[in-house]
Amino acid sequence: MNLTRPYRRVRGLERRVRQARMLAKAFRSPYSPVAAHLIPIRRCNLSCTYCNEYDDHSKPVSTETVLRRVDLLAGLGTGIVTLSGGEPLLHPDLDRIIRRIREQRMIATLITNAYLLSRERIHRLNDAGLDHLQISIDNVVPDEVSKKSLKLLDKKLQWLASDATFDVALNAVVGGGIRDPEDALTVARRGRELGFSATVGIIHDHSGQLLPLEPRQRQIVEQIAGIGKSVFDYANYSRFQRNLAEGKPNEWHCRAGARYLYVCEDGLVHWCSQQRGHPGIPLEAYTRDDLERQYRVSKSCAPFCTVGCVHRVAQVDELRHDPMTTLAEWFALMPGGGAGNMPMSVRALTWVFVTSPHHQIFRRAATRALGIR
Ligand code: SF4
Ligand code: SF4
Repeated sequence: MNLTRPYRRVRGLERRVRQARMLAKAFRSPYSPVAAHLIPIRRCNLSCTYCNEYDDHSKPVSTETVLRRVDLLAGLGTGIVTLSGGEPLLHPDLDRIIRRIREQRMIATLITNAYLLSRERIHRLNDAGLDHLQISIDNVVPDEVSKKSLKLLDKKLQWLASDATFDVALNAVVGGGIRDPEDALTVARRGRELGFSATVGIIHDHSGQLLPLEPRQRQIVEQIAGIGKSVFDYANYSRFQRNLAEGKPNEWHCRAGARYLYVCEDGLVHWCSQQRGHPGIPLEAYTRDDLERQYRVSKSCAPFCTVGCVHRVAQVDELRHDPMTTLAEWFALMPGGGAGNMPMSVRALTWVFVTSPHHQIFRRAATRALGIR
C-alpha cells in the first residue's frame, strides 16, 4: 500500500500551521526577514544563456559555514530559507542543511533545475524535512537558450508527483530569449495535471534587462496567471506581473535588505540576486539596525524589478499595514470578483484578528497557540 498520499496530507497540514506561524511572526514586526535566499554553491550543471547567477567551477561552501549561516538567519528572525544557486543539489550535504533549517523552526525551500533528482534523492529530501520545491521549466524541447525542458524532465516530475511529501511549484517562463511562448502554457498545464502549483515568471536577459513582451507573450502570462490561483497569487500577478508584461513600471516599496535577504556564497547580505553589492555586509555583522535602515531605503531598480519573491514579501507588508483595505483590493482583482466576494472564512478571520473589539486578546491567544516566542 502506498502511504505517500496520506502522509503527504498530514505533512501538508502541519506545514500550513508552520506557515501560519511564520506569517504571524512577520506581522508582529517589520524588522525581521520574511524570507532569505541562501547560496550553498554557485556552480551549476547547466548554462542557460539568460542566467547571471551561476559559474561552472566553484566549490561548495563548507557545510559548517552554511550551517552557521542558517543559525545566523534564524537569529535575525527569518521565516523562510530558500536554498538556490547555481544548482543547490550539487552540494554534498544539502540534506543536513535542510535539517538545520527545520531544526531552527524555519520553512525550508529549494530551487532546482531538477536534473539531479532521482527517486532516491526525492525520498532523502522528504526525510530531511523539505517543505517546498520550485522548478523552472523554460521550454518543451531543449534549445541553445535552455536545457530546462519538459521533454527531458517529465519523468522527474512524475516521480515528484508520486513520491514527494513536500509542495512542488512548477514555474513557466516567458521573455529572456525563450523562443516559443506557447511552451509556457504547455508547462503550466502539465504542472497542474500532476497536482503542482503553476506559476509564471517574466525573465530578464543575461544583463538583467527586462524587455517588454509581445502581445501573444502577454496573453500567455495572463492565461497562466488565471490557472488555479489563490487570491494572494492572483493579486501578485495583477499588482506586478501584468504591468511588467506591458512594459509599464510598478509603484511599490522594495523591502530587500530587511524583509528579504540574499546571502551569497561569500556570506555577504545583498538586496537580491540582481543587486549584489548592496549593501554587501557580512551576515555575521548584520544587525537589527541594518534591517531597520534597509527597510526604509528606496531602490531605484524597483519600477522594473522582476524578482517575484520580493514582490510577494511586499504583499505581506501591505497586508500587515492595512489588512482590511488590502484584502478588499485583492478580492476585487480576482477574475469576476469584487470585494463583496470575499469568502466567509476570510471575513470571519479578519473580524477575529482585526476588527473585533477583542482582537488583541484573540491575537495573543493565537500567538501562544502557534508557539511564537
Ligand atoms: S537558470 Fe538555473 S539552471 Fe540555468 S544556469 Fe542559471 S542556475 Fe543554472
Ligand atoms: S527592486 Fe527588485 S531588483 Fe531592486 S533591490 Fe528590490 S528586489 Fe532587487
